[in-house]
Amino acid sequence: AARVPGPSGVTAARTVRPAGPAAPPPSAGGLLAGTPEGLAEVARLVAEFAREAGTGLRGRSGPAPAMSPGELTRLLDERLPGGVVPRAGGGQEAVLALVRACAEAAVDLTDPRAAAHLQPPPLSVAAAADALTAVLNASPDTWDSGPYAVEIERRVVRGLAGAVGYGPDSGGVFTSGGSASNLHALLVARDAATAKLRDVRGAGMAGLAAEPMVFCSELAHFSVARACAVLGLGEDAVRTVPVDRRQRMRPDALDALLRGGDRDTRLPVAVVATAGTTDYGSFDPLPEVAAVARAHGVRLHVDAAYGCGALFSARLRPLLAGIEEADTVTLDLHKTGWQPASASVLLARDAADFVPSTGLRVAYLNPDDDGEAGYDGLLGLSLQTTRRADALKVAAAFLALGTDGLGALLDACHDLARQAEAAVAAHPRLALTAGAALSTVVFRYVTRDPAASDRVNGALRRRLLRRGTALVGRTTVTGEDGRGAVHLKLTLLNPRTTRAEVRGLLDAVVRAGRAEEAEGPARAPHEAPRE
Ligand SMILES: *Cc1c(COP(=O)(O)O)cnc(C)c1O
Repeated sequence: AARVPGPSGVTAARTVRPAGPAAPPPSAGGLLAGTPEGLAEVARLVAEFAREAGTGLRGRSGPAPAMSPGELTRLLDERLPGGVVPRAGGGQEAVLALVRACAEAAVDLTDPRAAAHLQPPPLSVAAAADALTAVLNASPDTWDSGPYAVEIERRVVRGLAGAVGYGPDSGGVFTSGGSASNLHALLVARDAATAKLRDVRGAGMAGLAAEPMVFCSELAHFSVARACAVLGLGEDAVRTVPVDRRQRMRPDALDALLRGGDRDTRLPVAVVATAGTTDYGSFDPLPEVAAVARAHGVRLHVDAAYGCGALFSARLRPLLAGIEEADTVTLDLHKTGWQPASASVLLARDAADFVPSTGLRVAYLNPDDDGEAGYDGLLGLSLQTTRRADALKVAAAFLALGTDGLGALLDACHDLARQAEAAVAAHPRLALTAGAALSTVVFRYVTRDPAASDRVNGALRRRLLRRGTALVGRTTVTGEDGRGAVHLKLTLLNPRTTRAEVRGLLDAVVRAGRAEEAEGPARAPHEAPRE
C-alpha cells in the first residue's frame, strides 16, 4: 500500500510503509503546530499518542516495567531497531512504535504502588496546558518572544509571593527545579555577602581572604552543597547544623555555629532552612531559625521545594509559619503542586535582590530604550535565556482547582501518610523510623538476623522494582552510634490512593522482605547479572 501523507507529513496510522525517505510535502498545512491545521494535527496526534500510551500502560500489572535494566535495553533495541535518529523518517507508524515503547518503559505514577520519589502524578489540566505551551513556544526572556508568557509568569509569581506572605516589593522567577532555585538563591546571597569586600562577579572568589560559610541542617538537600561548589564558595563552606529527634534543625546549634570561629575572617553567606526535608518531610522551625539568622545579620533562604504545597492547606500551613521572614524561598510545584516537570519558582522578598546577580542588558534581547518603553521581558531575573513558559500550566491548575483544591490534594496525601505510619507501627515485621510530617514515612523491614538488615532492605526494594510490583524509596539513616543504615520510605503523592492500597503496598514490602531473607545472601536469582 502506498503511504498516505497526513497534513503534517506524517504517514496515516497503520499503513504499510515502503522503504525510502519520507520528506513532508512543503505544502502540508499541518506541518507546523501553530497554524489552524497544525493545531488540529496536534490535537489528533495527542489523542492518538494518548490512546497508544494508555493501551501500553493498561497492559501493566504494576507501576514499573517488570524487567531488569538489561531486559529493558534489549526490549527498546527490538522496538526501535533503526535507532531514534534515522536518516529517513518513518511517519506516524514509527512514532507510534516510540510511544508504545515509552509506555512499556515508563513508571506509572498513577499506580497507588508508585511511592518512591517526590514525583507526583501530574494533573490532566496542567499536562494539557503544557502541550499548549509547547505549541505557542513562547519564552519569557524577552517581551517579543512571548508577551503572554511574561505577563502570566509575573502574575503567578505575584500570587505565590502573596501566599508566602511577601509584600509588593517582592519578585521571583521560574526555574528548572529546586536545585536551580537553590543555586540562584545562593548566588544572590553570595553577591550580597561579598558586596562590601569586592565585586565577586567581576573579580571572582580567588584570593578573597574571608572564609565563606553556608549553614543548613544535616538533612538539607544535596543541591545546597553543589551550589556552593558551583559558586566558588566550595563545598567546604557548608556548615551542617544537627537536627532534633523530629528531624528539624536545632536553632540553638545554629546559633552556636554562628557564634564560633574567627570573627575577622569568616563570611557567613546564608542560613538555608528546609521546609519539607527530602527524606522525612520535616520542617525546620522557621520562626526560631529566622530569629537566629536575623540576630547574626545573615540572610535566610528557605528551601520549600517539597513543603510548598502546605501554603494552600489550612491544616498544614502552620508548618510554614515564619516563611515570610526568609529573604528567598524555593518552591517546587512539580512536587506538591502536581505539575509536570519543570515548575519551580525562586521568590525574593525584595525583587531588587535579583539585579546585581543577573540584571543584564543584552543588545539584541533587551536594549534600554525598549525597556523604558515597557517592552521588558524576564531575562534580567533568570540564569537561563530561552526557557519554557512553565507558568502557563501552573496558572491553569490554580484557575481550575483553586488553591483550596491543590491544598486538598496534599491533605489527602498527608492522611495517607498518617495511615501508613499507623500501619507500619502496628506491623510486627516493620519498624517505624519517622512518622508522617508531610507525605513521607520512613521505616525498615525487620530481619530476623539484625546483621542482614541492610542487605535485605536494599534487596527487597530492588526485588519489587525488578518485578514491577511496587516503587518504594530508600535512604540511609544515621543511627545514634553514627553508623548509616539502609531504610525504606514511602513518598505518597497520589491523592487517589486508598487506605487498603497503602496496606497492600506494605504487605508487598513484607512479602518481598521474607523472600529475600529466605533466599539468603548468596546470589539473588531475580537480580540480573551485570551486563
Ligand atoms: C527535590 C528537592 C530539591 C531539588 O529539586 P529538583 O526540582 O529536583 O531540582 C531541593 N530541595 C529539596 C528539599 C527537595 O526535596
